[in-house]
Amino acid sequence: MNIAMASLSAQLAIYALAWLLMGLTFQLRRKVAILWSAAWFSGAVCALLVFVSGTFSAFSLDLAVNTLAICCFLLIQQGMDVFTRQRSPRWVFVFVLTGLLLIEGLRQAGPAWILWQVALFTLIACYPLAATLARMAVWLRHERKSSFGMVALIVSPLVVTMALFLVRLLLVVRGTTPDTVQFSQGSDFDVIATMLFLLMLGGFNFSLATIFLGGTIERLRTMSETDQLTGLNNRRVMMRRLEEEHARFLRSGHRYGLISLDLDHFKQVNDTYGHGVGDQVLRAVADVLKRCQRNTDTLARMGGEEFMLLAPLTEEAGAMIQAQRICRVVGETDLHTDAGSLRITTSIGVAIVLATDTSVKTVMTRSDAALYRAKVAGRNRVELAHSAP
Ligand code: GH3
Ligand code: MG
Ligand code: MG
Repeated sequence: MNIAMASLSAQLAIYALAWLLMGLTFQLRRKVAILWSAAWFSGAVCALLVFVSGTFSAFSLDLAVNTLAICCFLLIQQGMDVFTRQRSPRWVFVFVLTGLLLIEGLRQAGPAWILWQVALFTLIACYPLAATLARMAVWLRHERKSSFGMVALIVSPLVVTMALFLVRLLLVVRGTTPDTVQFSQGSDFDVIATMLFLLMLGGFNFSLATIFLGGTIERLRTMSETDQLTGLNNRRVMMRRLEEEHARFLRSGHRYGLISLDLDHFKQVNDTYGHGVGDQVLRAVADVLKRCQRNTDTLARMGGEEFMLLAPLTEEAGAMIQAQRICRVVGETDLHTDAGSLRITTSIGVAIVLATDTSVKTVMTRSDAALYRAKVAGRNRVELAHSAP
């Protein structure tokens, strides 16, 4: 038993250190890594205390051992909460704390209360494990990215640990091993449970680390493709989609339309109401534009108060109707800001890809030129690009 506990403690300490390192390395999701590091650290100290109390059996460390074990489970759950952006109710902590104190009270009351101690411990230990499972289930339903093997590696230790607690409770209920609550006495059941736990821990941490890193990379990717202010795609995404669409055009001849927008006299908004209100106007316009796009379109903020919409499989007439609608809707919408409701107009240039367009650059140049003509012609209007830039 002591060997099993010592190696469990060492393994948990290694995981605690690994997660701490992960937390220090990745600024994104740092809180999750630190919570999981604290969970394993708590588990390591718990196993160490069991190991020590086995050697020096004069010590009674049950309260500390129980508390640390529950802390370990709770911290895993808290980390999972942060990771999956869900929240646990506050009463959980009160429930767990009361449970721990009650167990200690029952232990002091004497061995006759052993069943109640084990039952209570099972309840407060299984709760965070079940909650972690529930979080994982919700997360997986949304993400659908993790492989079956990885999910199994995360789910099975949680299920097996809960099952072990329940089996222990059953054994105590049946009176087969009334002393199993005392880890230090090391029944066969505890040795087997510890060894099983030890085996599963590696897979569990490996899978957690994989989804942690996968999630972090995914978030970085989203951040690198999203305009922070408006939540629209950024220039990088638009350029990539344009290249794709142009390659499709060269291969199959499917034409696409490019709609360039620039807000009119936007500088005046900033100068009159301040930059903050200017930002609110940009966000509100972005929302209007989102509502005007079709689901095959790509909409992006190219920078400042300039937006672009790529409409695949579109001819001149269709693109002009869409652009005119955008121009009208933007101009007619009351934009809610801290300075009250404001209105802004937009100038739009429309270009449709032509056989002479050898790259997206020439299409962009033509839509820009059309936009410039719209500005010169008095703004709040749509101009169609000429066939040559
Ligand atoms: P025009 O009708 O000719 O387009 O006039 P304009 O004032 O819109 O054109 P100009 O390009 O001179 O001004 C664009 C302004 O947009 C200047 C800049 O301060 C402002 N701007 C650019 N990015 C942001 C931003 O992220 N937030 C805010 N509030 N303003 C921005
Ligand atoms: Mg501009
Ligand atoms: Mg402008």
